[in-house]
Amino acid sequence: MRCAPFLVAATLVLAPMLLFAQTRVLSDRPVTDEEVMRVHRSALLIDTHNDVPYYLVQGRDIASPDASPHTTLAQLKAGGVGGLFFSIWVAKDYVQGNHSANRALQLIQSVRHDVVEKHPDDFMLAGSVKDIEEAHRQGKIAALMGIEGGHAIEDSLRILDDFYELGVRYMTLTHTNTNDWADSSGDITRTDVKHHNGLTGFGQDVVREMNRIGMMVDISHVSDKTFWDALAVSRAPIIASHSGARAIANAPRNMTDEMIQALAKKGGVIQINFNCGFLSQRYREQVAAKSAETAARLKQATAGKKLGELETDQLEGKIIAEEGIAPATIGDVVDHIDHVRRIAGIDAIGIGTDFNGVECVPQGLENVSKFPNLTRALLEKGYTEDDIRKIYSGNLLRVMRAVEQVAGK
Ligand SMILES: [Zn+2]
Repeated sequence: MRCAPFLVAATLVLAPMLLFAQTRVLSDRPVTDEEVMRVHRSALLIDTHNDVPYYLVQGRDIASPDASPHTTLAQLKAGGVGGLFFSIWVAKDYVQGNHSANRALQLIQSVRHDVVEKHPDDFMLAGSVKDIEEAHRQGKIAALMGIEGGHAIEDSLRILDDFYELGVRYMTLTHTNTNDWADSSGDITRTDVKHHNGLTGFGQDVVREMNRIGMMVDISHVSDKTFWDALAVSRAPIIASHSGARAIANAPRNMTDEMIQALAKKGGVIQINFNCGFLSQRYREQVAAKSAETAARLKQATAGKKLGELETDQLEGKIIAEEGIAPATIGDVVDHIDHVRRIAGIDAIGIGTDFNGVECVPQGLENVSKFPNLTRALLEKGYTEDDIRKIYSGNLLRVMRAVEQVAGK
């Protein structure tokens, strides 16, 4: 626990009140429902990471009520989502036999055809700030794409260019696996993996090519050294599409204060992740303490079944909840936002939930329809309308504009 003793004492006294009004404990000032919805609707909300394509590529329709665990079209509308980066997540298994680019294409075409073409009144494919603003003007959700896992380009700058042509506007340099040209935070301590001490020469070329074509460089998932190398090489601001602050939750996937400050200094943004494991140190420790038990129960529950990786994650989350481990809270999300504001300023913060890609999401932010709860929490905490508009997309659009300006130069 990280609480000072007097806070623990105060928590004990306040415990009954906390139970009574969990979503109100942040309250520094009263906020009406009308104010929440007025501010929420006035902000263009862009979430930079959602794994819904994993489910859509299996044939599910985004408009159906069971499209995915955390996202349906009705929920996107209820949550006032104005833009969504559909994650083109290529699992590391596709590296075997060189199927990574193929997998990326399947997901990209699912977004283009199964989402945008199939639901033209609700979505518009967006490849620029101008497109996003036009979609918003027409009352449609801007559909954007980001590749997660640099192995998707199969070490080819031409394939990278092709992905841009198809609409991809950021690429996360690695997923949890180190690839041929960039180290990941996910396997950096493993001795059986060949590491490069950050980006290789070709990895630097990838970043330069992304700058040239106008694709945002995303450093979520990469090792610390890869982050520093990418930041040094890039001529444009870079993003963390779905990360948190390591000072709050000590995950290697989260960013140190030094990294966040350097990212911000170069004009970039950290888009806060909603994964309980990256939000809450308490959750991390409780899950770690039960990991053997969870693994055994998961093995039993999946025996004889052929479940995909994200379906297995959902099942694991269910088991963890059954073990009595409470999810993270909206307060945890606000803590990360507060921390980044304190050390790097309001211009460095955004939202990149990782909905559908994680086994646990915060209480009160269970799916994309619940975003107004975050708006309420931010207003209660004293964030202004202008602050909220920056967090929800203003900062990200500033980075996109800068990336567009660098392109071609
Ligand atoms: Zn991820």
